[in-house]
Amino acid sequence: MMDKHIDTLVIGGGIIGHSVSYYLSESGLSSLVVEKNTSGNRATKAAAGMLGVHTENKEAGAFHQFCENSRNLYKKLSTDLYAQTEIDIGFSQCGMLEIATDPRHHDDLLAKRDLFPDLMYLSGHQLRERIPAVTKKASGALFMKEDGHVEPAQACEAFKRGALAYGGGLLENNGVVSVEKSKGAFKVHLENGSLTAEKVVVASGAESGRWFTGTGLSNPMVPTKGECFSIKPDRHFVNETLFFRNFYLVPKLDGRLVIGATTIPEDRSTATTAGGLSKLMNDVFSIFPDLQEEAFHGCWSGVRPGSVDGRPIIGEHPEIEGLYFATGHYRNGILLAPATGQIIKDMIAGKTVPNVLKEMFSPERFQREGGSRYEYSR
Ligand SMILES: Cc1cc2nc3c(=O)[nH]c(=O)nc-3n(C[C@H](O)[C@H](O)[C@H](O)COP(=O)(O)OP(=O)(O)OC[C@H]3O[C@@H](n4cnc5c(N)ncnc54)[C@H](O)[C@@H]3O)c2cc1C
Repeated sequence: MMDKHIDTLVIGGGIIGHSVSYYLSESGLSSLVVEKNTSGNRATKAAAGMLGVHTENKEAGAFHQFCENSRNLYKKLSTDLYAQTEIDIGFSQCGMLEIATDPRHHDDLLAKRDLFPDLMYLSGHQLRERIPAVTKKASGALFMKEDGHVEPAQACEAFKRGALAYGGGLLENNGVVSVEKSKGAFKVHLENGSLTAEKVVVASGAESGRWFTGTGLSNPMVPTKGECFSIKPDRHFVNETLFFRNFYLVPKLDGRLVIGATTIPEDRSTATTAGGLSKLMNDVFSIFPDLQEEAFHGCWSGVRPGSVDGRPIIGEHPEIEGLYFATGHYRNGILLAPATGQIIKDMIAGKTVPNVLKEMFSPERFQREGGSRYEYSR
């Protein structure tokens, strides 16, 4: 393929790249996703799929609202995408329970309840009445009734096929090697061929670092490995997602319980280690000893696209007009995919984007002195 010209080229076919392409194509703006392997097979495939607005926010404000907006988009998306692609994205809004097993976490929950009055507090006793399997180690919980989960790989596939149905393009098994701007357009060199594009969106997940350093910005990426396993109990276990300090259990609609996840910053390896699983299992079984009897279903790992301050990077390069970043979503890329796709579409379409979001997600914020660092220990 030689020098075909397109409007917006998206580097990376994970859930972020395909959501960007979906919203662009839906608005009649043409796009092409270039994926070096096959779509949705990296971090996206490894995700548990939680839409945990309140587990991810200790403060009210713009980021909380962005998360909430994104979660809310899934409700309509699940019907729209199904109508368009016949893919069920496994959207569930059965609520999440954040559960404390130590006094500090318990204090944090009480503070969170004061901040978000919609959340319902349950004492340890009330929690065990609702979920008898929880041991007495649990001292209290917050019920987040609007939060839920989706099936990440299916959501990615539905965005992909939805974008294609709206006229978007897709090139798989062909990575982007380099991008250079000349005469107002981008010359994009692929492993096989080249293209020109008016705009380029970097959505290459944990591998995004090179696109920052290669364009004069400091590298904000902190690739962070996570390991999960699943079991398939032969009895109904729980409706709600259960979220603890060190692990979570997500009851999938097909009967699986997805349990995650380890957090290993700067580890890009793909192996699911015995040590990682063993630690995770010890944490889970100390609270739910009965789950040890259930059938093991599978295990896997993935590398989260973390960033230095734990927030995504969504916005235009400070000096290279037309080069956008949509990456760094760390452990919230599934939750934030719809809102990320929308905001990039708005930026490219020249619509007004709130300054508070532009500032918060700006690719140049890491150049400034004294930026806060996210603590990757949880
Ligand atoms: C164990 C685990 C559990 C998680 N649980 C949740 C959860 O419950 N909820 C939630 O919201 N998030 C969760 N996440 C985070 C979520 O998975 C990520 O934030 C999200 O998948 C990031 O999507 P992405 O499209 O940016 O990256 P990816 O899915 O990694 O996609 C990036 C794509 O870019 C491609 N690529 C890279 N370089 C190039 C190139 N040069 N040319 C072409 N293509 C390229 C890659 O092949 C890849 O397909 C979890 C992550 C892990 C690992």
